[in-house]
Amino acid sequence: MTKVADILTTMEYGPAPESAKLANQWLDAHSRAFGMYIGGQWTTPTPDRMIDVINPSTAKRIAAISHGTADNVDAAVAAARKAFKSWSQMPGHARAKLMYGLARKIQKHARLLAVLETMDNGKPIRETRDIDIPLVARHFYHHAGWAQVMDTELPGYTPVGVVGQVVPWNFPLLMLAWKIAPAIAAGNTIVLKPSKWTSLSALAFAELCDDAGIPPGVVNIITGDGGTGDILLQHPGIDKIAFTGSTEVGRHIRNVTAGSGKKLSLELGGKSPFIVFEDADLDSAIEGIVDAIWFNQGQVCCAGSRLLVQEGIAEELYRRLRARMEKLRVGDPLDKAVDIGAIVAKAQLVEIETLVRQGQAEGAILWQPSWACPTEGFFYPPTLFTEVAPSATIAQVEIFGPVLVAMTFRTPAEAIALANNTRYGLAASVWSEDINLALDISGKIKAGVVWINSTNVFDAAAGFGGYRESGYGREGGREGMFEYLKPRGLYSEGAPALVPAASGANSRAVLAGVARLNSAIDRTPKNYIGGRQARPDSGYSRAVRGSSGELIGEVGDGNRKDIRNAVEAARAASGWAEQTAHNRAQVVYYIAENLAARRVDFAARLSQSTGVDAGDALAEVDASIDRLFTFAAWSDKYDGAVHRTPYRAITLAFNEPMGVIGVVCPDERPLLSLVTLMAGAIAMGNAIVVVPSEAHPLLATDLYQVLDTSDVPGGVVNLVTGPRADLANVLAAHMDIDAVWCFATPELVTLTERASIGNMKRMWTSSKRLHWESGDAGLIQEILRQSTQVKNVWAPYGA
Ligand code: NAD
Repeated sequence: MTKVADILTTMEYGPAPESAKLANQWLDAHSRAFGMYIGGQWTTPTPDRMIDVINPSTAKRIAAISHGTADNVDAAVAAARKAFKSWSQMPGHARAKLMYGLARKIQKHARLLAVLETMDNGKPIRETRDIDIPLVARHFYHHAGWAQVMDTELPGYTPVGVVGQVVPWNFPLLMLAWKIAPAIAAGNTIVLKPSKWTSLSALAFAELCDDAGIPPGVVNIITGDGGTGDILLQHPGIDKIAFTGSTEVGRHIRNVTAGSGKKLSLELGGKSPFIVFEDADLDSAIEGIVDAIWFNQGQVCCAGSRLLVQEGIAEELYRRLRARMEKLRVGDPLDKAVDIGAIVAKAQLVEIETLVRQGQAEGAILWQPSWACPTEGFFYPPTLFTEVAPSATIAQVEIFGPVLVAMTFRTPAEAIALANNTRYGLAASVWSEDINLALDISGKIKAGVVWINSTNVFDAAAGFGGYRESGYGREGGREGMFEYLKPRGLYSEGAPALVPAASGANSRAVLAGVARLNSAIDRTPKNYIGGRQARPDSGYSRAVRGSSGELIGEVGDGNRKDIRNAVEAARAASGWAEQTAHNRAQVVYYIAENLAARRVDFAARLSQSTGVDAGDALAEVDASIDRLFTFAAWSDKYDGAVHRTPYRAITLAFNEPMGVIGVVCPDERPLLSLVTLMAGAIAMGNAIVVVPSEAHPLLATDLYQVLDTSDVPGGVVNLVTGPRADLANVLAAHMDIDAVWCFATPELVTLTERASIGNMKRMWTSSKRLHWESGDAGLIQEILRQSTQVKNVWAPYGA
């Protein structure tokens, strides 16, 4: 028998098991076979269509869930559609009360949910009890608040409709909360599919919805594998898709839903850097690393899986880290003193083992603690790779396990280059006692979340989501609400009138202008690239015809190479993003001033090109000048936020520019639509490559001179005229463009959305006519949102 005196010598941990009794009783009460929750009813499980639920820490079967069919999906979507009308029209306060009640239920049953999640997923009870479930409850409370204040805080927005949601297995209930809370707060109804490996907590949640009186059909839970998910997301009755999972599946979803008009948010993979500078508090940094890569066995989308260490402290940091790793405890996740639980499934364990072998084969040095993991269940020890080449597979691929790869750097610039040397951009963690350095680095990292001297901090009030191939969309906070809303009156039927501007004298001047244009000496404009006119690569020109078919000029026939050159010029103009918002505003005002000086010329060109009468043409020019003023005004007013998160940290939300945006303009209102899109994008700090209206390109080429005289730095605005569909496809497929806006036919929208999957660029497309004439907040705010992505920087404090 162990004596107390022995324990004092060895300091061994005793067992501290959390009881699984109530969770087992709950499973027994359901005969360990679950149906699905559709329209407030439970389907009966059919024995020949079940999926086993395995406890990953024992490898034993603990229950079975239903494998959802196309009929089940139909029924769930129909139930959600039926419930949408009354749920969306319910006063915000009524929705808020129901959601508040649901949050209370989650808290009341917190321990059952935590134990169930641990049994189903394998993650330590310490995490489910202290992190996952409290954050789930917090998410519903926070969003109950959004339901309450939506009418006054988000006026002019309506819910999107029926939302199809698919979540992964790593945070089953937390990801569900991130999806369902904002969706139903905004008045949508949902059909959600959890991962086939971890559906139990979603089913327990459905019971809580029932208990809390959430009306039937508002929340529907179907279970099944990726095939069931595919049927759900491709279902024609879904208005919006919200997906969290791997980039590979995200790419598939973007591909198969191209042209469907479904609103899409994708929260995908990551390979996030954890950067330690030599002035960091190393003991804190070590605890940060433990949290960054061994929290949830490293199965975290934003895991700090790439350790970047400043060279001078690398050996010391590795030494301390190895000592800490030696003391980590892997084992029964229901044991309250265990740090690392089980990997979710055998298949994932095999995947991790394969990548680790590959890391060794590619020459990196592996280190693991001396102790062995339990052999029953799916366990993997904490692992450190050093001497990793930045291009090694393990430095580039998301391992999704407890495996850290370390690299060194010398200077801050090198740290940034290494940090951004990834196709992902989900999160980053920066460790330094120098706040100047930390904030500077935070601004230069391409990631949606940056934690200074901290890691893996989340809250419902702060948005979370990625840059680049980590997807698009945000969850949490105000920005997360917009994912589930659409502005009223963004689109218009027909062509609404503009505010008339013409006096008789002006109209005569426009008519004279048209005559002048018609008799002018031919000047074939080239493309506009890097602030200069550039001859099109093809060496061809194309004819431009006026409203009655007459030849009114020629423009360059741009091709793939011209687009490539334009993208290169736009990328080289990155200094524009770093200018002050005040400076950018001045440039946009200057464009307005110079356009105003040529008001009659542009009206004449509009009249000549489109056949509108002089009054309408002048009104369009005036509206364009007005639009430039609007975005110049917004340039230094589209602020971020400081979130009120429940930590001793300030959370700064910045609206950062997207980067390089490809803009495919519509034919309607050829000047106004072009100027609106251009002004919004550049006012926010983007550089753009524009494909102007194919029918009316001379409006765009006339702008060259205006841009030249308005101090627009070369490369900020690039214009390539030519065959719109071909050029749009090149833009959409280009790997160095961050977003594409395309206003075109349904066919072209489909093609560009499909072509965008290479680097998962953010798409804003419409084959409906946008209400360009309206200066409404809806249109302006949409453009500002599409021009930016939110980065949340967390900076903890404390003396
Ligand atoms: P996964 O992409 O394999 O599966 C995610 C979900 O999609 C599951 O429910 C699955 O059944 C479903 N699915 C699979 N194929 C589908 C298809 N063709 N159509 C529709 N649905 C389909 O991902 P996973 O292995 O469950 O989760 C791990 C991934 O999730 C990692 O890449 C991780 O980074 C990512 N993740 C991202 C975030 C984030 O917020 N960015 C959060 C958690 C996890």
